[in-house]
Amino acid sequence: MVKTIKKAVLKYAEIQNHSFCNAGCLMCPYSCTSKMFPMGKMKNKLFQKIVAQLAKDFPTLRNISIMLQNEPLLDKNIYEKILFTAKKRDQFKRKFTISTTTNGVCLTKKLLLLLEKSGLDILNISLTPTNNKNKNLSPGINFSKIVEKIKKLPKLKKLKVCLRMVITNQNFDDIIFFVNSKTIKKLQAKNNLKIELSALTNRAGTLKNYSNLNLKFSNLVSPINLKNKVCFEPFHKISILFNGDVLICCHDWKRENILGNVKNQTIKIIWNNSKFKLVRKLLLNNNYLMLIPCKKCSIAKYFLSNKKIK
Ligand code: SF4
Repeated sequence: MVKTIKKAVLKYAEIQNHSFCNAGCLMCPYSCTSKMFPMGKMKNKLFQKIVAQLAKDFPTLRNISIMLQNEPLLDKNIYEKILFTAKKRDQFKRKFTISTTTNGVCLTKKLLLLLEKSGLDILNISLTPTNNKNKNLSPGINFSKIVEKIKKLPKLKKLKVCLRMVITNQNFDDIIFFVNSKTIKKLQAKNNLKIELSALTNRAGTLKNYSNLNLKFSNLVSPINLKNKVCFEPFHKISILFNGDVLICCHDWKRENILGNVKNQTIKIIWNNSKFKLVRKLLLNNNYLMLIPCKKCSIAKYFLSNKKIK
């Protein structure tokens, strides 16, 4: 029997300000997919149109992330984008937060203060704790250098910093060592840093090294909210590429399931269109195998194999 489709409530939006990255982490499909698809920057006009619609039409919105499958700080105009987003939030009297996620390579004290001044609420820094043996897990990123930079960051007034780490087979011990180190404790004392650990996902089947990298018991640390019992990504989140395409979710690195384009239609129309509705209906009924790219997704596999889910 088909279950009733619960109402989708947009809580999170991810906007790809451009599609480039300066690293080639093994836990990320970027080095492969960046050669497969057109790359580019989102036009300012399009960014502003998206943010204006999100602020006006979605009072349920909790967060706008200016980052999607990229290194957002390569964008020299990111401050203006944050400033514009904060202005729209004020104009429509909304309460959503503004965040971004960086690998830390471009991070400087000056840049951090500018981000805070522009109105950024949350800065996530993705870290790959690593020793010499595993130094190639994040080519292009020197872990020790990034930590040194973080140590020198000034005390922040409003901006919250979160250190994010993805657990893999190769660096599980290094992560445990790092999160228990004096360095982390000192950083936490200074800037009230948050630490988030998550399991690796296969990015909807696009991550070539997944089986080698995946730590078998990493389901203990969920990459998603499992209490929903189905994948709720397309129920709560919208992920918009630099060219306006709306993905089924942020894991769809191969851009296999495009549900609309914000250049031609409003976000409100896309969010309620038949493609989105069909996706939600199939997910609610655990029909992952009928959906691209869900049928290849490790998150779907988790839901399908979870004994608690009937
Ligand atoms: S199951 Fe589908 S919607 Fe959910 S994360 Fe995987 S690819 Fe995305």
